[in-house]
Parts: sequence; C-alpha cells; structure tokens
Amino acid sequence: MITLEKIVSLAKRRGIIYPGSDIYGGLANTYDYGPVGVEILRNIKNVWWKFFVQGMDNIVGLDASIISHQKIWEASGHTSGFADAMVDCKNCRSRFRADHLIENQKEDLKVEGLTVEKLSDLIKKFHVKCPNCKKEEWTAVRKFNLLFPVNLGIVEGDKSLAYLRGETAQGIFINFKNIVDSTRVKLPFGIAQIGKSFRNEITLGNFIFRTIEFEQGEIEYFFDPKAENWEKVFEVWKKTMWSFVTKILSVDEKKLRWREHSQEERSFYSTRTEDLEYKFPFGFKELWGLAYRTDYDLKQHMEVSGVDLTIDDPNTGEKITPHVIEPAVGINRLLLMLLMDSYHEDGERVVLKLDPRLAAYKAAVFPLLANKPDLVKKARLIYDDLKEDLNVVWDDRGNIGKRYFAQDEIGTPYCITVDFQSLEDDTVTIRDRDTAKQERIKIGDLGNTLKSKLS
Ligand code: ATP
Repeated sequence: MITLEKIVSLAKRRGIIYPGSDIYGGLANTYDYGPVGVEILRNIKNVWWKFFVQGMDNIVGLDASIISHQKIWEASGHTSGFADAMVDCKNCRSRFRADHLIENQKEDLKVEGLTVEKLSDLIKKFHVKCPNCKKEEWTAVRKFNLLFPVNLGIVEGDKSLAYLRGETAQGIFINFKNIVDSTRVKLPFGIAQIGKSFRNEITLGNFIFRTIEFEQGEIEYFFDPKAENWEKVFEVWKKTMWSFVTKILSVDEKKLRWREHSQEERSFYSTRTEDLEYKFPFGFKELWGLAYRTDYDLKQHMEVSGVDLTIDDPNTGEKITPHVIEPAVGINRLLLMLLMDSYHEDGERVVLKLDPRLAAYKAAVFPLLANKPDLVKKARLIYDDLKEDLNVVWDDRGNIGKRYFAQDEIGTPYCITVDFQSLEDDTVTIRDRDTAKQERIKIGDLGNTLKSKLS
C-alpha cells in the first residue's frame, strides 16, 4: 500500500526531495529538490509549457518579477484579504489552520471562507483535538496575512516595502498592457507563467503538498464577455486540464474528480470556481483550480494605477475590459501526485512507473563489472553517444541487481548493460523497467530502439 511516509523516504533516499535547511535541523515547510527531483520538476514544467504555450496558438508566455510593488497587492486585495484563519493550541503552542483542522476531522465538509466566529464554533462543536498533543484547549480563531513583506534597501520609509508575490497571476495582470502593446495578441488570448510564489502558510505537514515557497503554473485567459459565453470557455478549460493530467502526465483517471466551490468558499469576485482534485493518501485535495475571475483584477489595477487597461474592439473600436478565466496549478503538487500515482511495489522491488517523458533519466548505462577496463571503455562509448540526444545516467557501483533496483526506484525506463558477450558481438542487453524483462540488441541499433520505445 502506498503511504506518504514511503514517498518521503524514497524521495530522500534517491535524491528527489530533501527537507529544507537540513544540516541546521530543517526549516518547517521548506524543501530542496535533489539531482533527480530537479530533473523531474523540469520535465513537468517543460511538458506544461509545451502543451499550453508552445502548443496553443493564442497563449503567450511571461516571466514577471518575484519581488513586486506594494501597490500591486493593495490593488489585488491581497494586503487586506489574503489571510488564513489560524488557531493555536494553548497547551503545546502548535499553530494550525482552523479550516484544515475541521476538514481533517470531517472529511467531506468544506469550510474554507467561513468567518472566524463560525470556525471557532465548529472547532467546539466537533470537539477538535490538537493533532500534536491531543488536548482540546484552543485560542480564538484569528486571521493571519499570508504575504511575505520585503524591505528594499535603496529607498527610505514606507516606500521600501515590497512583497514576494503571493501568486504569479498578478504579474500577468500588471503586464497586460505591455503584452497587448508589444505583441500581436487579440482576444481571446491567454498569458501563461511558471514561477515561484510565496505564502506564509501554516500547514499540516503533508510533505510538499503545501509549502511556503512553491512553483505555480498559471494562465489568465482573457476574453470579451459579449463575444464569448463564459460558461462555454470554462467547460473547454475543464476538458483541457483533464486531458493534460490524464494524457500527458498519464495519471489514473479514477483518482481524479472535479469539485465546485460553494459560495462561501469562493473569492468574492469569482462567479465560479472548480477544483480538479487528486486522491492523495490524505484524501481528495486540490491539485488545480479553475476560476472565473470576471474583470475584477484588471479593473482594480486600472483604478489603483490610473492606467487604461482596456483593449479596443477591432471591429467597432469600442473599449473592452476583458474578463478572465484562470487555470492555476502547483508544479510541486503535480510532482507529489506523480510520485504517488507512479509508485508501485512489485515483490521486493519498488518501481516508479513514470511516463518516460517525465522520468529524470531516459536510460542508465552500466558496465557489468567496474574493474574490467574493456567493459568500462565500451560502456563509456555508448554512454557518451546516447548523451548527445538523451538524458542518460552512468552507474558502475555495486552489483547489477542493486543498480537495477536503484534505477527502478527513480523511474528510469531502460537499463543498458555491457557484458562479456558485448565484447564479442557488439550487442548489449536492454532491460525494461516495468516488466523487468531484458532483450539483447545490436549497439548500432541502440539509439533508434530507444527513441522509438520512448516516443
Ligand atoms: P488552497 O486552498 O489549497 O490554499 P488556493 O486555492 O489558495 O489553495 P490558488 O491560489 O488557487 O490555491 O493556487 C493555485 C494552485 O497553486 C493550487 O491549486 C495549488 O496546486 C498550488 N498551491 C497553492 N498554495 C500552495 C502551497 N502553499 N504550496 C504548494 N502549492 C500550492
């Protein structure tokens, strides 16, 4: 059975994910991505970018600054409204998000967006106990702003206050005019961005599910609400997101579902929000949010900046304030889902059955024995040759069984071994991760065989 503990241990053991600031005892809710993890993350971002930006003719990319003007966050409503409801255990002083404490106890109840008073009442009503010390001694629930302020050294006083962005979306809204003026986009069109966001969150410790620093992939899809029916646009986006997760990431459909936000849960400016949820070991949880944000953000920025962010209708010349539909996903959450979804135990062996496109290495190359120069030399030639086109990895430690075991655990689809027969007839064995079966092929055919297997 798959548990979060197994994934955490595998991730650390195999260079996928380490606790942040590890040698100093760790820093809560931060993680570092190791040599294998960083490759998988990069592959996830690449397939996302290829699918949504390069693969669509009306979506363009952006990379906006992380450190951003305080006015952006005033206009967006984050400085006043971007807050979580917190509650402290009086006994052990642990701090929790009130909504998560309640939802943890009552799995199908969604309480996000309720007032602090209502949350306090529910904690009492359900006799919620502290997950840490099991006591039931709570402070009142209060709001806690999630934005990280930063002080810039070059200007004095209040002007030096900036923020680390709490979402990538705002970078898109504030660049709307720049993009309209400098490129050939016309409505409807999307602007996409992948990048880090920061939220001073208190979490329940579900590994990388919720961290204070994380990567988002967000698209703002702008359209003229008179020309386009928003409900139709919304449905098309639902289908597109679903097919990305099931076809491109090859995730099991049975573990996915849509959930619509109730009115209390939705941001006040949103008319509809639905979450694509994945069944994690700790329950069905949000993977990817889809929200109809109306023209709220552009209007806010027009008001606070005084800059005109409307776009001219090419036919009538009329000014349009576009409406927007926003698919927003956490890249690290996609990684966590993929680790869970691809994890298999096959007897003694643990296999990550990752789609080859996402696997850190496409193949591993081994000389059967590390102390036989002829084997090493031949294997090295193959490795150097394959490395020109594919991300391949070399391993000559320990025995061959251990090497297969290690590659299975990080999801390497193929292992190529140079043995004594290779020296005689220029063949190698190629072993398939999922079946553990080996076949023997000519070294000359290796490149093409791998390419066709991987495609
Ligand atoms: P939640 O309700 O879980 O706090 P949210 O609805 O505030 O999330 P959005 O602002 O819609 O999240 O962010 C879009 C996506 O970014 C989420 O679907 C999630 O995948 C990811 N995300 C949000 N917060 C975090 C976090 N603290 N750590 C990791 N990923 C996150």
